[in-house]
Order: sequence, then structure tokens, then C-alpha cells
Amino acid sequence: MNVENVLHERFGFAEFRPGQRETIESVLSGQHTLSMLPTGTGKSLCYQLPAYLLPGTVLIVSPLLSLMQDQTEQLKMRGEKRVIALNSFLQYEEKTAALANLNRYKFIFLSPEMLQLPQVIGALCPLTVSLFVVDEAHCISQWGYDFRPDYRLLGDVRHELGSPLTLALTATATEKVRQDIREGLHLPTVKEWVFSVNRPNIALQVETLQNQMDKHQRLIELVTFFKKPGIVYFSGRKATEEAVIQLKQAGIVRAAYYHGGMEASDRLLIQHQFLTGELDVVCATSAFGMGINKENIRFVIHYHMPPQMESYLQEIGRAGRDGNPSIAILLYAQGDESRHEFIAAMEFPDDGQIRQLTEYSVNPRDIQPPLSETQERFAVHYKQEANQKRLNAAVYMKERRNHLLTRKAEKRNEMLTWIFSSNCRRADYMHFFNEKPLKQPHCCDCCGIDLSIYKNKSVSRRSEEQLNWRNMLAQLLPGK
Ligand SMILES: [Zn+2]
Repeated sequence: MNVENVLHERFGFAEFRPGQRETIESVLSGQHTLSMLPTGTGKSLCYQLPAYLLPGTVLIVSPLLSLMQDQTEQLKMRGEKRVIALNSFLQYEEKTAALANLNRYKFIFLSPEMLQLPQVIGALCPLTVSLFVVDEAHCISQWGYDFRPDYRLLGDVRHELGSPLTLALTATATEKVRQDIREGLHLPTVKEWVFSVNRPNIALQVETLQNQMDKHQRLIELVTFFKKPGIVYFSGRKATEEAVIQLKQAGIVRAAYYHGGMEASDRLLIQHQFLTGELDVVCATSAFGMGINKENIRFVIHYHMPPQMESYLQEIGRAGRDGNPSIAILLYAQGDESRHEFIAAMEFPDDGQIRQLTEYSVNPRDIQPPLSETQERFAVHYKQEANQKRLNAAVYMKERRNHLLTRKAEKRNEMLTWIFSSNCRRADYMHFFNEKPLKQPHCCDCCGIDLSIYKNKSVSRRSEEQLNWRNMLAQLLPGK
């Protein structure tokens, strides 16, 4: 069977999206492969399809439980039963049963933490691993925006598994990050496929508003004006819920919120309603969108700026997969960046927690105030690393924490520089990825765009005028 047949018969697609064929053929020819495919091009097909042409098992390392859940569900919906996710959600009995029967599965999804457990490695070793997939591979790099300390151990894990054929996937990685991926996974020779981060059918606009009240007003205007469906991103859970109330009051009733604090079943319901067109607008945190295969999203609005350019590009990339004109709007008000400063600080243990962990050797689970999942991951990893290196654990952990916080502040500043720039926005972000920018129509607010292209047909003349008037005002505000 050739790749086309599998694509048609297994997946029901008529053709490949850019980058998929190259990646798949590279893997099937037995080369270690690193592929950078822009969001919206369907990265998961790049390992799902070869799985049907290769003997043995495909292991997929994934950094997020929700992402893992989405991908296993997706495979199950296609009728694939030989799929399992090994993560901290599994009960002890379930895990033991799964580990005893791993050879029954074609697809095994794993969190990086699971790969640190000797019994998991022990159960994986006898299997024929035909492909080792590292999803969101930029997490391996300290230069990446989403560094995960446990990803750095994947090179050793690969070695323990007999150095199987490897596929590293990412949507956004600068050259420096790609180098870290190659080194981190111990891949001396690797075929690299790097596709443009540019999505020409998505117009970009940034608007500076004076305060949060103006932003709310503007959000309602934009959501009313634009052709739907669309997504509005927020940096906090509560804000998504408040926005839905306001949108509904303004007459946009087919709106719902989505965030990581909701029950899994409620999240699946919202995803499903959005996919089937029962909802026009989802107000969400960044938790929404990763597993969503929706072609016709017409707008993505950022009510709060994302913490870095890479997240921005991933999130706006959910618009316009069908190739039709779509728009991304970012609303900025002074001080918005401080939300991320606060969020970043919360990702790491504070000095008091570090002291309990090191000086008093308190069990990470018993520390007060309790460690979040991310904090615990950080603490356990670096305490262990300090011990291996025979360093003072408290000093080492603080030093690593401060390094990562500085890195996050730099990424935040890059994002702010982009927001305040008066250069072509597309050219600026392409430059960031060492790409040569191209002039194109309907580009960005700095090049000049006509918002009426993205207009919902039923919009009245008056609200269109109001929208444009506000738009002009936004351009005049300081910060532009
Ligand atoms: Zn432009």
C-alpha cells in the first residue's frame, strides 16, 4: 500500500497539506526527521499515517495531558482501538494492566515523566518500536518558550530503547531551538523540514486601547462585525466566563467559554458544539484549540496578549485552515504584560518552598503552600540534578528558576516590541524566524487592511462606521 492509499482509505483525505508528504516520506525512508510545520497543517498525521505502514509500535511523547487526550480520542473516533495513553491519570491497577499488555497497542502516548519510571522503560524495551515521536519538540530547549526539564532526558530514554527511528515535531522553533532538539535527542544525522511560519490568508491587526472597559466594548463590536465562527483568547479563566456573559447580553448568544478548570466532559461538549457549528464564538484560555480540526475559523481575537510570539503564531494559526480570508486581532491595553509576569512567577517554587524542600527535606507533596503540578515537576527535577552534580540544591534551584524567569521576560519583551512596532507585522515575525518577508495584499494594520472583507453579511451600515471610527482612534493612541 502506498501513502496515498492510506491517506484516502484510513483518513478519508483527498490530498496532503504542505509538509505532510515530505515528513512522512522522510520517516518511511528510515531517516530521523525534524519537521517544523506551521499550526493548522495537521502534524499528527505525520506519525499516524506511517504507523500503518511500519511494523511494531509507535511511541508518542506529548507534554500535555489534554493534548494526549485529544489525540487518543481522535484515533479512537477513526476506529483505531489499539491506542493507549500512559500518564498520571491512570489508576495503579490500570497502569499495571496496561504495562503487562503493551504489545497489544499500535499507538502508545506517554508523558515525559512516565518515561522516567524504570518499570515503564522495562515494559517498553521488549517491544519493536518502529517510530519514536517527540511532539512539541521545542519543549526540549531552554531557548524555547515552553521549556520542560523532563524533555531534556529524552535523549537518554531513546538510547535505552535502542535508538529507534525518531520524528521530532514542532510548529515554531527558531534555528537555535532546532539545534537544541537535534542535540537533546542525540540525533547526529537528521533530515530537517522547515516550512514557512507565514499564513498568507490571515490578516494581522493590533489595536491599542486605553483601558479594560474600552477593550470590552471593542471586543463586542468586533465579534458582532466579523464573519464567524471565531475564537477569543484570554490569559485567565475568569475573564473567559465574564466575556461570554457580556457577549450574550450584546446579542451574541451562540457563545461559550472553555478553560482548563472545567470538567473534561464539559470541555469535550464545547469542542464538539464548536466543531459542528452549534457555537459561533468560544472565549477560551490557551488550553483551547490544540486538538481542534476546524477548517473555517474566520477570526482569532486576543483579548490579552500571549506571553510570546510563538504562542501568538500557534493561536492565530487556528484561523483559516480552509485557505479563505481570515483575520487575527490583538487588543492591547497598557499593563497587560504584567499578567504574564505574575503567571510566570507562579510556575516556579518560591524561596520558602525551596527551603522546605532542601534544608528540611520535606516531601514535595507535603510542602506548604502546596506545589502546583508545574512547580513540583521543576522542584523534583532540579533537586535530583543538583544531587547528581553535587551542588547545593537550594542555590542551584534558585539559579535555574531565575534563569528561566529572565528568559520568559525576554520573550515577553519580544512580543511587546512586535506590538509597538510600526513595521509590517508579517515581515517582523518572519524575520524572527529568519525568513524573507514577501509583500502581499490584506497583510496587516501597518500595511493597511480593509476590515470590510471580514464582515458578517448582516452587519448594519452604522455599526460598520462605528467600527472604523474606533479603528482610526486606536491607531492614534499613544503606543502606536
Ligand atoms: Zn504587513
